[in-house]
Amino acid sequence: MPLNSGYDQVMNESIDQFRLEARSWLEENCPDDVRKPGFIPWGSQKIELEDDVQLWLDRMAEKGWTVPTWPKAYGGAGLSKAQYMVVQEEMRRIGARPALTGRGVNYIGPTVLEFGSDDQKAKWLPRFARGDGGWCMGYSEPAAGSDLANLQLRCVDEGDIFRLNGMKIWTSDGIYGDWIFCLVRTDPDKPKHEGISLVLVNMDQPGVRVRPIQLISGNSPFCETFFEDAIADKDDLIGPRNQGWAVGKRLLQYERSVHGGVNTSGAQVEQKALSLADTARTYVGEINGRLADESIRTRLLKLEMNSHAYRLTQQRVIAETQASAPALATSILKVKGAEFTKERVDVLQHVMGSQGFGWDGGSFNQKELDTNREWLSSRAVSIYGGTSEIQMNIIAKRVLGLPD
Ligand SMILES: Cc1cc2nc3c(=O)[nH]c(=O)nc-3n(C[C@H](O)[C@H](O)[C@H](O)COP(=O)(O)OP(=O)(O)OC[C@H]3O[C@@H](n4cnc5c(N)ncnc54)[C@H](O)[C@@H]3O)c2cc1C
Repeated sequence: MPLNSGYDQVMNESIDQFRLEARSWLEENCPDDVRKPGFIPWGSQKIELEDDVQLWLDRMAEKGWTVPTWPKAYGGAGLSKAQYMVVQEEMRRIGARPALTGRGVNYIGPTVLEFGSDDQKAKWLPRFARGDGGWCMGYSEPAAGSDLANLQLRCVDEGDIFRLNGMKIWTSDGIYGDWIFCLVRTDPDKPKHEGISLVLVNMDQPGVRVRPIQLISGNSPFCETFFEDAIADKDDLIGPRNQGWAVGKRLLQYERSVHGGVNTSGAQVEQKALSLADTARTYVGEINGRLADESIRTRLLKLEMNSHAYRLTQQRVIAETQASAPALATSILKVKGAEFTKERVDVLQHVMGSQGFGWDGGSFNQKELDTNREWLSSRAVSIYGGTSEIQMNIIAKRVLGLPD
């Protein structure tokens, strides 16, 4: 018998007890209307929430379960990783959607938790946890994408305040944002990685202007964000001045852990199961209970098997990462996750044949029109949060230890 079996038994019993409590609390408090897929708030004060969505958010925030592993003092519930997993499982069991998501709880929240001063934690973390403010990400600039350290947005110390001039690009949700965390240049005379800081900026001020960018898929989720004598509070610089490169890179790891499906430091949104078989049956028919087209059958099977292996790997990484911080495995999972997302829509279009390529008109149904747009927008998954090529560079250098 292993020496720690008594300890394990006590732990298992307390987890079982926690599961019962979580189940009963969720049954009592999760409104019926949010027990299905739908809009998940991300804090934007410019988007009005339906009553049940707001109620769910308020109740979960009160319970500390919008950010279950954060300390209670900062709006969390101080749950262990095991308890966190239980809450996730119990929410999944009743089909409950997360009460809150977004860059507040998932990107800048854990970063403030790790690098913020006590005052900054007390000021910001409870706001993130309540979804009080929608956050945008101000990293990319026209000449600073993969080469992010080339960023030029100038931030000058004017005594009482910081003054910002320059621009960011590809700001997702810019028109709905209330706040933006920005990587800025605080010292242009230092080598480029050493003159950068991370600062929080209120977007509702005359010095911040947002202009939407129209995309090929027909949507405009991104914006250019212009800073024209914009002001930031000097207390809102996160981490040491001019050492924001390390802080900013850490935030990127938090972002990638969300894209890789292994985020445990904020609010992970469940990835949808990748079952395409029903759609395939509609389009290609069946012979003797099997999909009629062998090439589609083979492709679908491979995708399902790989996706299943991927989900198991995600669970293993979550279980192994007992620290609250994401591991280097996030880059691997981000690359693979992006491949699956693209492959899934590729397969969907393959299954639909020419019906999957419609743009408008009565000969295509809504699902077919959506699929074509989804195919176009899915090209983005291997770009945002750092491209797949950049992730592979990180894996080569940091995981495999290959030389530069
Ligand atoms: C959907 C979406 C949402 C986004 N949201 C935001 C946001 O909210 N905020 C924000 O700041 N940014 C956002 N971005 C921008 C995103 O972070 C950048 O697009 C990304 O970092 C790549 O930069 P780039 O577009 O300038 O491409 P580039 O850096 O110009 O890269 C072009 C190509 O060259 C390759 N490449 C570049 N350098 C190397 C290298 N060293 N080794 C190998 N290959 C290389 C790249 O992989 C890519 O294929 C978003 C992007 C997308 C698509």
